[in-house]
Amino acid sequence: MTADGTGSPLTPDERRAELAESLADLRGRIAAACAAAGRDAAEVTLIAVTKTFPASDVRLLAGLGLTEVGENRDQEARPKAAECADLPLTWHFVGRLQTNKARAVASYADVVHSVDRARLVTALSDAAARDGRTLRCLVQVSLDEAEHRGGASPAEVPALADAIAGAAGLRLGGLMAVAPLGADPLPAFERLAAVSAELRRNHPDARIVSAGMSGDLEQAIACGATHLRIGTALLGGRRAIVR
Ligand SMILES: *Cc1c(COP(=O)(O)O)cnc(C)c1O
Repeated sequence: MTADGTGSPLTPDERRAELAESLADLRGRIAAACAAAGRDAAEVTLIAVTKTFPASDVRLLAGLGLTEVGENRDQEARPKAAECADLPLTWHFVGRLQTNKARAVASYADVVHSVDRARLVTALSDAAARDGRTLRCLVQVSLDEAEHRGGASPAEVPALADAIAGAAGLRLGGLMAVAPLGADPLPAFERLAAVSAELRRNHPDARIVSAGMSGDLEQAIACGATHLRIGTALLGGRRAIVR
């Protein structure tokens, strides 16, 4: 990553200052969105999605007080989590998860946002129970039937939620969704809020609503999101690190 696009890398101090400024801007956006929605900003947890950025950035963010880190690929997340094992971080796995990666992910992730099928529940449960770990799991809900970016349909949520709640080593946290590409995110997040309200009738503690990325966090907060997954607005453009 470079400050000016000329290719000269930032020093650690420059990068820390850049991240601190982005974080302050982001906190301002979150505070404004919470004020507009009549919500307390303390209800909203910020997850820094650090995919494609180095472990050194995770370390700098931890130094700035962030405790929640998100990754979407096991191959990248596993070594990064290992490099940062000395830091007091909670690791969120937010990407699509193949069943054969469940065991690996269960070894370092604290929260898995992308549980969207029964086989994954079984695989994560087996792995967590074997490692003596407890994994908080969110059911990923598809808000656009036409797309195939992962996620269970709203109708599939109750059975998946029951399966997670009853599985050894797993704890049901709530729901996650990604807004449909190229559409107004607001109706999609409203739908997610309705699915969450329905879920909480049977699982009152499953209060997490993981929604909202760099481009749509205001709409997500307006619709009750409890967890934001923010990459670009905090760390910068992901293409910038391609050399
Ligand atoms: C990359 C990613 C994010 C962060 O997206 P930005 O638009 O960069 O904030 C959030 N959620 C998931 C599932 C992601 O893969």
